[in-house]
Amino acid sequence: MKLALGCIADDYTGAADLANTLTRAGLRTVQTIGVPADELKLPEVDAVVVSLKSRSIEAGLAVSRSQAADKWLRGRGADHVLFKVCSTFDSTDVGNIGPVMDALRGSSGDAIVLVTPAFPETGRTVYQGNLFVGAVPLNESPLKDHPLNPMHDSNLVRVLARQSKTKIGLVDLATVVRGPEAVRARLANLSEEGIGAAIIDAVFDRDLETIGEVSLNHRLSVGASGIGLGLARALVTAGGGRKDAAGKTMEAPVGGPAACLAGSCSQVTLQQIANAEEMMAVLHLDPDRIITGQDEARRALAWAAQRITEGPILIASSATPDQVAALQSRHGRDAAGHAIEQAMADIAEGLVRLGVRRLVVAGGETSGAVVDRLGIPGFLVGAEIAAGVPVLRAVGAKEGEMSLALKSGNFGGPRFFSDALDLMH
Ligand code: ADP
Repeated sequence: MKLALGCIADDYTGAADLANTLTRAGLRTVQTIGVPADELKLPEVDAVVVSLKSRSIEAGLAVSRSQAADKWLRGRGADHVLFKVCSTFDSTDVGNIGPVMDALRGSSGDAIVLVTPAFPETGRTVYQGNLFVGAVPLNESPLKDHPLNPMHDSNLVRVLARQSKTKIGLVDLATVVRGPEAVRARLANLSEEGIGAAIIDAVFDRDLETIGEVSLNHRLSVGASGIGLGLARALVTAGGGRKDAAGKTMEAPVGGPAACLAGSCSQVTLQQIANAEEMMAVLHLDPDRIITGQDEARRALAWAAQRITEGPILIASSATPDQVAALQSRHGRDAAGHAIEQAMADIAEGLVRLGVRRLVVAGGETSGAVVDRLGIPGFLVGAEIAAGVPVLRAVGAKEGEMSLALKSGNFGGPRFFSDALDLMH
């Protein structure tokens, strides 16, 4: 099997978003957690998204991990690799977008790299090299106050120039709307001027399609899920991919008991838990017992063992904002969050030992802790339960076939837990 597209994502949730976007656009896609082992057996897929946690680490480390991912993807036949960054271009003057781009460009042999974080469906557009978040330029958006990467300059030509060793140019919207040939001609001019990377304007999906078509003649591109969409559409137009990329994932049922875990305390999740009470047995954990080191996970597993063969169950640590604030003031925010995440991971591990093979997890950090603990190397992306939340089929898990749904707190409709289980056979 030869990959049509390889992707390296600088964080986990961005990788999940990209993998979901590629699947919706018609590419069968696996998201891996970190650079996979050489022996990882992939199902029949068109694209692999390697998720790294390299957005805010030291630049040298981000480079070496990205190079390892690039080598793995190229080794599986990927002619084109997309380095996936945040659609708000989260980075600082020391990186990591510039240094990683420079290193990957070096090994790709490309004279010039196309760069755009535009993703119009989420309000990210680029005009004259300036990134807009909704109606405001990046430097006026909430990203100006980001705790790790405050973004004070909306002009991405300047932002990238401060991080990269190569000269940065611009392909403006007037050129993009004239189509692929005009973009190619402009890139050729820039590259003659010694420019090694170009920010490309994009305001509508059709601009991304033009960029995707041009990018396929290159070995490397840099951007967010929007350029992923453009690449996927160009590949499908060229005869790759398939109409129902998500469908095949569901062909062989996983079966076995099903369970849900909730660690998110968002309003949306609290309502989803309340609704689930009508459909399944629900256990509310005692967060104080977790943090003070009493074996709340074991109590939960004993409770689960008695019910799991009768139907799905839900175990939740979630609490109202007042309760969360009170708990945090007693124990400290980080200590409380970490202890509860680890307890949820203990419970997930125990549930799998009880035979659970269909697992729904609510909460971004909670999902991360659970996936790390279960040591699942990757996921094949399936049908969407709610916008941005697909059913995932584990790839290379030691437990064999497993189906998961991982959602950030605010995602999903009021009956998310039963909606998810309906699609996870
Ligand atoms: P979301 O996607 O809604 O942000 P996360 O799982 O990312 O959800 O974050 C929720 C955080 O709150 C986690 O660190 C989790 O351990 C913690 N948490 C869960 N239950 C409670 C609780 N009852 N009190 C305080 N913190 C909690």
